[in-house]
Amino acid sequence: MFDNKNNIEFISKLANILSKKISPSNTINSVNKLFKTYLKIDSIDFIIWDNNNLLLKDFVCDWKIFDDENRAKEINYIYSNLSLSSGNLFYFNEEEFNCELNEEQLVQIITLAENENIIIYPLISNSDVFGLMRFVVKDKDMLTKVFFEILNVSSKLLSGAIINYLLNEQMEVSLNFYKAMKDIAKIIESQYELSYIIPLIGEMIDRFISSHLIYIFINKDNKYNLVWPNACKDSHVYQLLEKITNKTEYLISENSKVGVFPIIHEDNILGAIAAYSNIEKLLQKDIDYLVQLTRQSGMTIQRANVYAEVLKYATMDALTGLNNRRQFELRLNQEVSNSKRNNNPLCGMMLDVDYFKKVNDTYGHAAGDCVLKQVSELIKNEIREYDIACRYGGEEFFIILPQTNIKEASSVAQRLRKVIEETKMDIKEAGVDGISYIKVTVSIGVCSFESSMSANDFSQCADKALYEAKTTGRNRVIVS
Ligand code: GH3
Ligand code: MG
Ligand code: MG
Repeated sequence: MFDNKNNIEFISKLANILSKKISPSNTINSVNKLFKTYLKIDSIDFIIWDNNNLLLKDFVCDWKIFDDENRAKEINYIYSNLSLSSGNLFYFNEEEFNCELNEEQLVQIITLAENENIIIYPLISNSDVFGLMRFVVKDKDMLTKVFFEILNVSSKLLSGAIINYLLNEQMEVSLNFYKAMKDIAKIIESQYELSYIIPLIGEMIDRFISSHLIYIFINKDNKYNLVWPNACKDSHVYQLLEKITNKTEYLISENSKVGVFPIIHEDNILGAIAAYSNIEKLLQKDIDYLVQLTRQSGMTIQRANVYAEVLKYATMDALTGLNNRRQFELRLNQEVSNSKRNNNPLCGMMLDVDYFKKVNDTYGHAAGDCVLKQVSELIKNEIREYDIACRYGGEEFFIILPQTNIKEASSVAQRLRKVIEETKMDIKEAGVDGISYIKVTVSIGVCSFESSMSANDFSQCADKALYEAKTTGRNRVIVS
């Protein structure tokens, strides 16, 4: 069946397919076509043993767990018998059959499936069987010595290509892991609000430990308060939390599915990160990642705590250089009393960056920070010396405009909205590949102070106008 020319042509075509950088499913599609043309065999499955969760997975279907139950049983059976030496080839049919190819290569035919000539051929790397190739042959006569020799060479080529792909994939995961570690460390450079930091840490850890739900707890007076996400109903997590001491590295539940990782700094338990699943066990690899991520998060949280302590007495927001929230409250109260006492006009505006979450999600938080700094600069440029610009919260700003009537205030707001819309925000510092500038817009709510209002009513009034600007389309000014 196989003359020499065909033989060489087949192998060189196979090598050619495997040398292309295409997705596993495209590669295997081409391999399938080639096998069909030259060997008259159809639909080859590639099944890989996934060491991470000790399951056989379909390599072609993007790592789907093998979902055909009978097939899975068959494959598992074969795999459990595959401790045989690496040169073995299995062929299942009604009768048992041995065919010596050469000294190492033994063909075994065992009865397993009826009426189907299923060939299972191991994929081998460094003498370890890491997966299988499975296909059905229609005509038993084609199972010649040459056929098996070709199969043997093909499996070597395929094994090499698949292992290469798997190694690349693994390397990407580790690279992403170290990037996440760096990101966690970087957040703190400009951020000190735990309410902002914790969800970021949570999301980053979540990305790595996809098999488990991640919870973050902060320890306050020896009680663990869940701070991310909103709810944790699993009693196992709480049972493990109870057992934490300041010498604990981590605790894993008896069934290995739940783990808690204390965040400890200088013998103080700052909190804990918990991983929970009711299906999958925590593997050593996950545990190693979690230990490192927890350590890094601990440093970030500790520094945030110290920073927050220092900033309690500061008046300026560290990222933008504007008045901070505390200072805003003080200045607002002062200006409201002034206005009441002297009957002077007073206006306020609340400004919020539109779709800012998308900026962070698309270009990263460092780029988001660049935008906030530049928006703050534009605000400073557009207002008068005695106006008071404050960072109200994340991407929200409040500007107090003493001695200003509503007409003037709304024209300041319009000018500011326009200049922000037109400015190219420089995000070079964030190091996003190929992107130096982005554009954002803001929504602004403007409100005029009335003597019957409290300071709180006044800021609420601007907030309401801002809300209206958001719900009516954004990138606009609403005057209440
Ligand atoms: P909307 O147009 O409705 O305002 O949409 P939005 O995405 O701007 O609104 P949302 O309030 O949901 O998102 C605000 C985001 O701002 C969420 C938060 O992660 C981010 N953020 C808050 N503080 C900071 C900060 O200091 N730096 C950065 N980069 N992002 C921040
Ligand atoms: Mg907002
Ligand atoms: Mg916003």
